Amino acid sequence: DDEPLRAAAQAACSGLSRNRAELEVRRQASRGELTILRATVRHLPGERAAALVVVEDVTQQRMADESRNAFVAQTTHELRTPLTNIRLYVEALVDEGDDPAVRSKCLNVINTESRRLERIVGDMLSVAEIEAGAMKLHVAEARLDGVFEELEADYRALAQDKEIALAFELPPKLPALEVDRDKLMLALHNLLGNALKYTPAGGRVTVRVADDGPALRVDVVDSGIGIKPEEQELVFERFYRAKDKRIAGITGSGIGLALARQVVRLHGGDIGVRSEIDKGSTFTLTIPKPEAAARAAA
Ligand code: ATP
Ligand code: MG
Repeated sequence: DDEPLRAAAQAACSGLSRNRAELEVRRQASRGELTILRATVRHLPGERAAALVVVEDVTQQRMADESRNAFVAQTTHELRTPLTNIRLYVEALVDEGDDPAVRSKCLNVINTESRRLERIVGDMLSVAEIEAGAMKLHVAEARLDGVFEELEADYRALAQDKEIALAFELPPKLPALEVDRDKLMLALHNLLGNALKYTPAGGRVTVRVADDGPALRVDVVDSGIGIKPEEQELVFERFYRAKDKRIAGITGSGIGLALARQVVRLHGGDIGVRSEIDKGSTFTLTIPKPEAAARAAA
């Protein structure tokens, strides 16, 4: 029932058109699902009038292309803010760097902003690695002591700006894990970044670390907007953002959680969520401890 496709098939049949024709057919089902088909039509030489029509379902491919484009546009946009800040504060430093207070403020901002740049670029590279199916871990025994201090340092100012009470609850001693520290950091950054992003001012975000089983467990608990039950699994899909009016004004490309889960699963762990709309969300990350450590603890 597709007019252009029928016309192309007829033209090919009758031999009027001897070239290969390629058409795209878009179908929106009543439930709103979009299907994109690619049809290739060519004349079949011979005595009888005949055409060969090949129809392929390219929906997944097209959607992936579109989200990749959106992701590139979004991240490029996100690179600008830290870059602008770095430039402004370098200028201030050049002009007023003699004043120690100004100097330390400027260096602080430049430090934070360049780390933000590094994270964005890191995320982009990881997306490329995942797409190529080539994400590799550089595993080494890592002490976790510094990890949570670094996180706190990176988010303290943001939490203060948003008037969110940010707390860390750590066990007295953190275990050593066999992990890719940078990748684990990426996952934790995404979880904590989300918690602060999707929690309105006046809320609370707690990072709770427990070391009492075969795995290290990190709960990132927020008192934010929450996620509807039917979307709680979907938010881990690449490029998925909740259909919640309140996130419309919050920047993001929907890649963070997909990346974080991928990274943690490569470590043999997982990330899950419990959430209630308007009450808040708890994202739980687990990383198995090395067997030796588990045996020593037993
Ligand atoms: P980015 O790629 O910059 O991380 P993002 O934050 O939109 O963008 P994800 O981190 O993958 O992407 O999260 C996907 C979606 O899950 C979000 O758009 C949001 O709708 C929902 N979400 C994630 N974390 C929370 C949270 N703590 N509270 C409420 N909703 C959340
Ligand atoms: Mg995110």
